[in-house]
Amino acid sequence: MKLSKGLLKALNDQVFKEYEAAHLYKAMELYFVERGIKGFAHWLHLQVEEELEHAQDFINFIVESGEHVVFQDVKIDKKDADFKSIVDVFEKGLKHEESITKSIEDILELAIKEKHYAAENFLRTYIDEQMEEEDSFNNVLGLVKYCEDDKAALFEADKIMARRE
Ligand code: MG
Repeated sequence: MKLSKGLLKALNDQVFKEYEAAHLYKAMELYFVERGIKGFAHWLHLQVEEELEHAQDFINFIVESGEHVVFQDVKIDKKDADFKSIVDVFEKGLKHEESITKSIEDILELAIKEKHYAAENFLRTYIDEQMEEEDSFNNVLGLVKYCEDDKAALFEADKIMARRE
């Protein structure tokens, strides 16, 4: 099924939004690496890899549709990578995932409008994926808010974060 110009552009933009997410989460990972908080760093390292896989999935969809990917700048706002606290890290992470969900919903709406069923199916799996992404950032945010300035609690939380596979 051929992609319309508009749908192709939206999917192409999404590739680079996923790379932006990877870029932002790498900054978050380094926040913890620099502080020797290894479990949180590990969790975010895996999250970076997941975002790279998302970008690859969108690339595959574009390529399998017989189109090619047009490269774009990948930028994050310096302000977004300047974290005030652990809570701030995960508030920014959740906010970012919410913006990704909105972006994918917009592309899905376009696919439905254009009756592009293959794109619709592909994007619906990503709506499910985003449910999980928001839930996992929300859970971690709840955990770090619960710990706040309690170093002993944070030490335990770090062990939980280290278990992510
Ligand atoms: Mg993603």
